[in-house]
Amino acid sequence: MSLPPLVEPAPELTVDEIRRYSRHLIIPDVAMDGQKRLKNAKVLCVGAGGLGSPALMYLAAAGVGTLGIIDFDTVDESNLQRQVIHGQSDVGRPKAESAADSVREINPYVNVVIHNTSLDRDNVREIFSQYDLIVDGTDNFATRYMVNDAAVLLGKPYVWGSIYRFDGQASVFWAEHGPCYRCLYPEPPPPGMVPSCAEGGVLGVLCASIGSIQVTEAIKVLTGVGEPLVGGLMVYDALEMSYRKIKVRKDPNCALCGENPTVTDLLEDYEDFCGAVSVEAQEAVVDATITARELKDWQESGKDVFLVDVREAAEYEIVRIPGATLIPKGEILSGEALSRFPQDRQIVLHCKSGVRSAEALAALKAAGFKDAVHVHGGVLAWIKQVDPSLPAY
Ligand SMILES: [Zn+2]
Repeated sequence: MSLPPLVEPAPELTVDEIRRYSRHLIIPDVAMDGQKRLKNAKVLCVGAGGLGSPALMYLAAAGVGTLGIIDFDTVDESNLQRQVIHGQSDVGRPKAESAADSVREINPYVNVVIHNTSLDRDNVREIFSQYDLIVDGTDNFATRYMVNDAAVLLGKPYVWGSIYRFDGQASVFWAEHGPCYRCLYPEPPPPGMVPSCAEGGVLGVLCASIGSIQVTEAIKVLTGVGEPLVGGLMVYDALEMSYRKIKVRKDPNCALCGENPTVTDLLEDYEDFCGAVSVEAQEAVVDATITARELKDWQESGKDVFLVDVREAAEYEIVRIPGATLIPKGEILSGEALSRFPQDRQIVLHCKSGVRSAEALAALKAAGFKDAVHVHGGVLAWIKQVDPSLPAY
């Protein structure tokens, strides 16, 4: 199925641009019209990592006029095996800035927009709405579902890709014309079932194979050339050296883009939705969960509460619940901090959203603190229910 071009052409190309893009201009299907559309296009790349590297470099070289880069991370030496947009001298720098420098070096005519922040439910709509098309290069399910939901709710097409070891997949999700990611994967995999690249590894060059499909599809959607991968899933097996294209149908029962959607807004917490907690943690919180409001009531009624913040020190610096003692989750899981917990007081754990505190609660209960509880929704729930003057982060 071919689709009309996503963006209108820019009024003109300069003489320098005509020289630079001559190999595109002599392709009859692209030509001046297609190149002007690329010039006018605004594309956001979510993540400047494995997939984001080749995607950004080729989108820049192709002459996409505005390229947004969103990444909150810094360049680590272990990234350089595949994230070719960064170099040795970039180690320690914010990825978004390092990637922006490479983009400018490849093509000075690109307007680069840096979003040196993490994408979350509070900024995703505002950021996405500045672009025509999204290229998703994220490596975790929580962000992936959020990208999908935001794109569908805003009516934006996006090019998705995923990589693991020797396998890759790619598709174009555009609910107006075909399925969305939820049509293909209605539910995230159970926690622990699918290891991340950090845990399971990835062949570096696989990023180029999948990233190049993503850029190819982006160019096709922007210019209206060819048949975009809407309703198709590309499955690449590097060991077999095979590409398979699988048909994906729009699911009439899709919770998001189906006939009777149940997801009509972004979810409160994508980490929760993706079950970032282990089975042990899920069991530990049963009958051991209180609300932020209940915590406040306990404190006010004079109950002897030992409130423990299991987040990291930097988060504790940003915002804290009054009376909380900082003991990061890692120190509880390792057993190192267990001696700091009193036997005779009501232990209450909390984190930012309730995921880490559930994990810590499981460890604490296993160590014999049977009456310990955690706060559902963590600091974010506290801000919402008890003290909206505190900064959410
Ligand atoms: Zn759907």
